[in-house]
Amino acid sequence: MHCPFCAAEDTKVIDSRLVAEGDQVRRRRECLSCAERYTTYEIAELVMPRVIKQNGNREPFNEDKLRAGLLRALEKRPVSVEDIEAEIMHIKHALRATGEREVQSLVVGELVMTTLKKLDQVAYVRFASVYRSFQDIAEFRSEIERLEADTADD
Ligand SMILES: [Zn+2]
Repeated sequence: MHCPFCAAEDTKVIDSRLVAEGDQVRRRRECLSCAERYTTYEIAELVMPRVIKQNGNREPFNEDKLRAGLLRALEKRPVSVEDIEAEIMHIKHALRATGEREVQSLVVGELVMTTLKKLDQVAYVRFASVYRSFQDIAEFRSEIERLEADTADD
């Protein structure tokens, strides 16, 4: 980074150490032009990307909403809370791993579909029928057939 005193490009790290129980790196730097010293902190960016809705509105990622959607689809299904929580972690990880500051709501929806397909096929069809808001019974049937074909491959 540029020197905050003289904006020179070349600065030298003269000390580097882990702080905040290893969650941050503190660096002491010295400007090669003006010799001023300053400190920088480096932290991992773990913020969740914002979600771009179909109408273009942006909203913060909402973990409660994700959990509610999964629980609704998995109602009265033999899937443990631990498994659901683990999948929520996976989905959040996948969203962070995109490295994007904003993701289409479609991306979140597809991650949920993939998760449910793996967890419980009844829940998957329940969610898919709402999420993809099937226009007619033929479309719904083709989804079921696609699902059965996938299962046969396993
Ligand atoms: Zn400087």
